[in-house]
Amino acid sequence: MSAAESLRDGGWLVTLLEPSGRCGGVIETVSRDGWLVERSADSFLAARPEAVELVERLGLSGHLVGIRPEVRRALVCRGGRLHPVPAGFRLMAPGRTWSVLSTPLLSLRGRLRVVLERFVPRRRGENGGDDESLRDFAVRRLGREAFSRLVHPLVSGIWTADPGRLSMAAACEEFLVMERRYGSLWAGEAARLSSGKAAANGLASGARYGQFVTLAEGMETLPARLAERLIDRGVAIRRVGAERLSRGDGGGWSVGTSDGGVIAADGVVVAAPAAVASRFVAAIDPPLADELAGIEYAGSAIVSLGFAREDVAHPLDAAGVVVPRAEGRRILAVSFSSSKFPGRAPEGMVLMRSFVGGALDPSAARLDDRELESIVMDDLRSLLGVRGSPRFMQIDRWAGAMPQYHLGHLDRLSRIDARLRGLPGLALAGAAYRGVGIPQVILSGRTAAALL
Ligand SMILES: Cc1cc2nc3c(=O)[nH]c(=O)nc-3n(C[C@H](O)[C@H](O)[C@H](O)COP(=O)(O)OP(=O)(O)OC[C@H]3O[C@@H](n4cnc5c(N)ncnc54)[C@H](O)[C@@H]3O)c2cc1C
Repeated sequence: MSAAESLRDGGWLVTLLEPSGRCGGVIETVSRDGWLVERSADSFLAARPEAVELVERLGLSGHLVGIRPEVRRALVCRGGRLHPVPAGFRLMAPGRTWSVLSTPLLSLRGRLRVVLERFVPRRRGENGGDDESLRDFAVRRLGREAFSRLVHPLVSGIWTADPGRLSMAAACEEFLVMERRYGSLWAGEAARLSSGKAAANGLASGARYGQFVTLAEGMETLPARLAERLIDRGVAIRRVGAERLSRGDGGGWSVGTSDGGVIAADGVVVAAPAAVASRFVAAIDPPLADELAGIEYAGSAIVSLGFAREDVAHPLDAAGVVVPRAEGRRILAVSFSSSKFPGRAPEGMVLMRSFVGGALDPSAARLDDRELESIVMDDLRSLLGVRGSPRFMQIDRWAGAMPQYHLGHLDRLSRIDARLRGLPGLALAGAAYRGVGIPQVILSGRTAAALL
């Protein structure tokens, strides 16, 4: 849709093919009996411009809602107890020495190791050497304990990935650059804070939660309003899938559709998941199709449960909890939706979204509803003092919905770009390539449109 918007602005006649009959892809909001539940994304990064600018263009600025300031912190589970992420610790960049030295989340040795990160030498090799996994980077810089107790659970909340395969260069380049430019994460984070940029973006402390915003009536407002705008501006939205691509008779492209039709086009942006894109281009460029098919995806399940406030002992005074694998639990994280944003639960009730599965626990997302509910309820009882039964439940399974930027992802993108240079008028967009967050995906659509 973002590509369609840019193309229309550039004077193209645009047809958007969407087989599901609903625009927005994974972004979907369910509103029922006073509960407002996101099926996937519940917020987006406001520090990047793309999504906020789209919200403004759509006249939705008045609907933007930030996470309540008093809950802009994340909790981490250790030994079954919940403790805040050390103040100033941002994903993997520590910011305040005393908060690291005093955190109960790490042993004394683990805390000292984080403090000593300042003195860990830079990685050797041109541009820091070969692609490094997130696990290797975090262990090398911060130590094994900080990786498994802090960095891995915080990163899992975003990527649901195997950190031993996740490419630092593709997924977390910012922290690689800190090492290269400033010599350490401590120095890099200090430089970032002193530049004043962070303060302006509201990033001063805790995990990344404080930087995120949502829309008052739910995330789906964004694609729904964008679809209306596209229709108003003459974009034809058709309820058919794109099946195959071939060269057009007089140049350009021919798109075969799921209803047996053929659409002639001067340019095509493929914004479906990588496996679909792979099938789509298979007949015109098998090596490109192979590269696209090589992008793996992970799945997860989200169990959204509502409770009466008095049935939850914990004050829910944070954005949520992340759970290290070392805790031996199956939930990866719990987001305190009704603490973060207003209007998510009826008066006197609370809503929590628990994440299960991910690349390291692929079978979890395939469990049936009863098993998922029971796994999550066991953990919520012991971690948050939940009593009684949920008043609301919704389970969403996302099999293979989250692209994984594995080691070598950037090399793969270079090879994909090289193939595309031989296919003028064809471009790719979406979460599979250069960022899974909503702002990055919007940018990918605009970039693809500019390439046609
Ligand atoms: C559970 C979950 C939670 C997330 N949470 C957040 C969050 O809090 N914040 C954030 O910023 N990001 C989050 N993300 C990531 C973000 O939501 C996604 O990366 C992004 O929305 C993906 O957009 P997309 O257009 O690339 O893909 P999709 O949303 O998957 O859309 C692909 C589209 O292609 C269509 N399609 C499929 N086959 C065909 C075909 N043959 N022809 C034509 N069309 C086809 C589909 O119907 C669909 O509409 C989350 C993702 C998931 C799965």
